[in-house]
Amino acid sequence: MKNAADPLDKSYELDPHGLARFLSGKNFVDGALRPPASGKNFAIHSPATGQEIGQAPESDAEDVDRAVQAASRAHAGWAKVSARDRGKLLMQAARAVTDHAEELARLVALETGKALRTECRPEALTLGDVFTFFGGLTPELKGETIPLKPGALTYTVREPIGVVGAILPWNAPLMLMAFKVAPALAAGNTVVVKTAEEAPLGVLRAIQILNSVLPHGVLNVVSGHGPLAGAALVSHPAVKKVTFTGSVETGKIIYQAAAKKLIPVTLELGGKSPMIVMPDADLDKAVQGAISGMRFTRQGQSCTAASRMFLHESIHDEFVGKLKILADKLIIGDPLEDSTDIGTIISRDQYDKVRSYIAMAEKESGCVLHTCAKLPTAASLKNGYYLQPTIVTGVSNSSVLAQEEIFGPVACVIKFSDYEEALAMANDSDFGLAATIWTRDLKVAMDACSRLEAGLVQVNQNQVAGPNISYGGVKQSGLGKELSLESMLDHFTHKKTVIVNFE
Ligand code: ADP
Repeated sequence: MKNAADPLDKSYELDPHGLARFLSGKNFVDGALRPPASGKNFAIHSPATGQEIGQAPESDAEDVDRAVQAASRAHAGWAKVSARDRGKLLMQAARAVTDHAEELARLVALETGKALRTECRPEALTLGDVFTFFGGLTPELKGETIPLKPGALTYTVREPIGVVGAILPWNAPLMLMAFKVAPALAAGNTVVVKTAEEAPLGVLRAIQILNSVLPHGVLNVVSGHGPLAGAALVSHPAVKKVTFTGSVETGKIIYQAAAKKLIPVTLELGGKSPMIVMPDADLDKAVQGAISGMRFTRQGQSCTAASRMFLHESIHDEFVGKLKILADKLIIGDPLEDSTDIGTIISRDQYDKVRSYIAMAEKESGCVLHTCAKLPTAASLKNGYYLQPTIVTGVSNSSVLAQEEIFGPVACVIKFSDYEEALAMANDSDFGLAATIWTRDLKVAMDACSRLEAGLVQVNQNQVAGPNISYGGVKQSGLGKELSLESMLDHFTHKKTVIVNFE
């Protein structure tokens, strides 16, 4: 018999629909799945079929308060667990979610429309990887001794901040939950997560599984709408820190609400990352890097997406030709099928928004659209939000297409004739999350590394952020870093200075 009430029961592994129904209408607070106080829920639809797959609680201030109270009660005990023992628990929790990676991957594929093989399985494994990484880092929560004066011992200690509110987006829910929750818990904080409206289930299940190891109340999750549940979390008096990934507009609202309480925030916001390809670049590698960098297999729904491609005029046509060939090979289809490379856009709203940018490109003078790969033809998928990878050449860097974050499978290609021109255009953006340069010339590469305005610059590769790199943007792309030791220390602890005068 299936028993998802036991978080370690695996009988739903291959049945995401059944698991979605079981998790419907529940938050996870103080060690148990619980319905919202009001009993109100909203429907979650599969973006691949349009069918309702379950319900999520419409949590309000009362639900948020219950979760924050639970996290507050758990805090003193959790902060007193020795750093190494906290780390060991996190690594044990990491093994539990990794053991359930297939189940989590299928659930996220169902609710987000992202392809199981190319996106959801790697994401589910990253979840455990990030918890393991931060679990191993807890002994590094150490202070310094300061040679202040004779007759005194002066030192610093790293103390947890308290209850952390973590507000998540829908594009990589498991991975981004781990980026926030793992370092916060490792540093001795307790956490209340607010899931994205579109993707509450995978995170809920992951948190239920993590709780099979963690003490009650240390990690809680509520679902609900941003202006209601999200805002209540940020403004709750017992929440002492907020970490957020999402849009620039919402990030600013959260920053203002946090300012009223004078609490710290970490904000991972949008991007419009440039990819500069010089004439001497290894073109095949660069084209492959454009496919992965553009996150075509995630329908371009990534803030790091290399969505502005600056191509030198001497290689422009060859590069675009090769890019089209590779993009054409990608299979768009049912997210839960193993043969699928590309699933769907998350929602009707996003689908319409991306299509409005494509319509804009169709009208923009000088732009040429190259639509790649084939839409699925199966009748069962006819209501899905499928979009083809679209390469737009002839884009001007000053156009809306090149300046706004489309968050869809639309790559803007911009031709340049001179390195300084490319660099100036790459930096001419409100965003500054990531950037890449492709060249065999070390001098050019190193010059670009120092002059590109971005939180992450890569040369001849377009790797996804992972544990042990400091990840986070400059300019409108946000405040602060994630994924590294220093991000844990700077963002999830207070440094206390102690002077013991023994004269
Ligand atoms: P998107 O437009 O892609 O949904 P958002 O930045 O609005 O991106 O959403 C990211 C997360 O922020 C979601 O969990 C959402 O519910 C939450 N959110 C939206 N508005 C607010 C708000 N006013 N306060 C707190 N959280 C919010």
